[in-house]
Amino acid sequence: MGSVSLKNVSKSFGAVKVIHDVSLEIEEGEFCVLIGPSGSGKSTLLRIIAGLEDVSAGNISIGDRQVTDLPPKHRDIAMVFQTYALYPQMTVRENMGFALKLAGMPKAEINAKVTDVARMLELDQLLERLPKELSGGQRQRVSMGRAIVRNPSVFLFDEPLSNLDAKLRVQVRGEIADLHRRLQTTSVYVTHDQVEAMTLGQKIVVLKDGRVEQVGRPLELYDDPVNTFVASFLGTPS
Ligand code: ADP
Ligand code: MG
Repeated sequence: MGSVSLKNVSKSFGAVKVIHDVSLEIEEGEFCVLIGPSGSGKSTLLRIIAGLEDVSAGNISIGDRQVTDLPPKHRDIAMVFQTYALYPQMTVRENMGFALKLAGMPKAEINAKVTDVARMLELDQLLERLPKELSGGQRQRVSMGRAIVRNPSVFLFDEPLSNLDAKLRVQVRGEIADLHRRLQTTSVYVTHDQVEAMTLGQKIVVLKDGRVEQVGRPLELYDDPVNTFVASFLGTPS
């Protein structure tokens, strides 16, 4: 259902090739972290999986479906962005239900679903508030709630903690881990922070200049890095 497979994926913007022949297997239910320095192609790869960028070459499957030529809304994915990107004029309830409303779900069903997810994220007391009346961590939880209500096969996260202060970052990181333990939804999580990668990742993919340097479990990468780039990148606190 929610496995993700990339086969020989390349991407160029104009004459500049930014993703070079990436192949990757993410298993159903796995939490996979893409890590690499700024400009290494993490967001581009995530946007390719989401269908927000097309590929120049290669193929993408989600579950047993070839999705390479499908638009985002037909890929059964939901994305959590680095900025909260909430609609400022809508309440928490309306923000969380908006995608379902667009999909034509009846109002009573949307309300039940949103209430359920809000309870899970401890947002149920905040449903009638506007985004500006929330803390940064609460806003990021609403942003996750928007993804969860859609019940996708795959969650895609692009540096979801980057706008939070250090304390909140640790808290929301823990909430994302809890969420994955609870829902077991296949997740692809982009970060440049090795602590995040090591705490959250079941599989870590190290990218450099649009190429995969190494794939492995956290301890494998830590104990047995394939080269000095991986060793120094994972060994240096940010
Ligand atoms: P990361 O998320 O790892 O910081 P990105 O995927 O954003 O890296 O970018 C990878 C490379 O692709 C960078 O060199 C960036 O400048 C380039 N790039 C990303 N998006 C575009 C675009 N829309 N047009 C041209 N170049 C882009
Ligand atoms: Mg990025």
